[in-house]
Amino acid sequence: MKTAEIMQRLAAKHPGEAEYLQAVEEVLNSIEEVYNQHPEFEKAQIIERMVEPDRIFTFRVTWVDDKGQVQTNLGYRVQFNSAIGPYKGGLRFHKAVTPSMLKFLGFEQTFKNALTTLPMGGGKGGSDFDPVGKSDAEIMRFCQAFMLELWRCIGPDQDIPAGDVGVGGREIGFLNGMYQKLSRQYHTGVLTGKGMTLGGSVLRPEATGFGALYFTQHVLHTAGKDIKGCRVALSGFGNVAWGAAIKATQLGAKVVAISGPDGVCEIKDGITQEMIDYMLVMRASNRNKVQDMADKFPAQAQFTAGKKAWSVKCDIALPCAFQNELSEDDAKELVKNGTWCCCEVSNMGCQPGAIHYFQSQKGFLFAPGKAVNAGGVATSGLEMTQNAEHISWDEKEVDERLHTIMRSIHEQCVTYGKQADGTIDYVKGANIAGFMKVATAMLEQGII
Ligand code: GLU
Repeated sequence: MKTAEIMQRLAAKHPGEAEYLQAVEEVLNSIEEVYNQHPEFEKAQIIERMVEPDRIFTFRVTWVDDKGQVQTNLGYRVQFNSAIGPYKGGLRFHKAVTPSMLKFLGFEQTFKNALTTLPMGGGKGGSDFDPVGKSDAEIMRFCQAFMLELWRCIGPDQDIPAGDVGVGGREIGFLNGMYQKLSRQYHTGVLTGKGMTLGGSVLRPEATGFGALYFTQHVLHTAGKDIKGCRVALSGFGNVAWGAAIKATQLGAKVVAISGPDGVCEIKDGITQEMIDYMLVMRASNRNKVQDMADKFPAQAQFTAGKKAWSVKCDIALPCAFQNELSEDDAKELVKNGTWCCCEVSNMGCQPGAIHYFQSQKGFLFAPGKAVNAGGVATSGLEMTQNAEHISWDEKEVDERLHTIMRSIHEQCVTYGKQADGTIDYVKGANIAGFMKVATAMLEQGII
């Protein structure tokens, strides 16, 4: 296979689907060499089959806002690949959601889930519904209307959605309630990221951030470094950034920046527990303004409008917000300011130019989202196991399992990403490891 030829065909077939094409190209570039060493992959047209989702559901979601006005949004579920297990992946509620965005996320999810060691296929869904400024009652009505359509596409052995940007425990609760009402099925295993009273797993809310920091620790240790005392800049202030801030602080690092669409908060002395707790209040308010942190803690946090977290001096940059949030110019600014490590916590958080720039800097440590943030979906997998067994593990058990999974993901990256000079190309490592598992499973299932 030749990446350029495949990309040309895909771009002609799916014009304007920029994020999807970007995600596919990144994976194909990494795996081309390995793929071409396996004629059986080519014979079974593995790549041609793997880059297209199994199916996409699109539906209209109509609901009534607090003023009594009727609102209409679009809802989607992309069932990408089920070779290694039922479709698994989050729901994103964001005004910019398009089929292209969900296809890129579903494609990434397929490889990420393969890396977790658990039997989960890849899927993603969501809506162009914008939660910003919505009341709790509006969020509830939207979630209920969304589930009126989604419930027929999902099931505990078929497709198990969870949260993503704009969808947290509150939304999952509303979605779960409506699913049970419609299906008259009261099992707990059709959505993950549930609250503890609904059969959720301890540590699931923290898991993406915790897992990311465990992975970052492995990256640092392998390079002979320690996270203790490092300055960490995070983007975003949602669920993922919150978990990352807790664990980074616990491990002795100093979180010196969080950011939002409105700008950045610099926290010179490092984020405190009180401020971390306040991130949850900020998320629940649906205001989407990081300035609220500086207003609440004026002595500790300094807000600058229109700036990104990457303008703050740090050792480690952790993008935790949205795809393509870190550009090549941002990468240059970070390196100029002394940053030597970037672990993507958001899905495809760095633009291709930023990744190339980081990788061109001798000694710079870069790791991609599908490895770094896999602790979230891995803990969703642990939630599914607990639900299936009708039991609930304690924090120690879940944390140990999360540790084991993140260690295994790191080992897979090392196995497939070790370079001749002894350094590790984590992008290559993660992509090849995930690809080999999914491709092998597809081969074993025959042509379907
Ligand atoms: N949305 C998260 C991700 O990007 C979690 C998905 C899940 O738990 O199913 O991996």
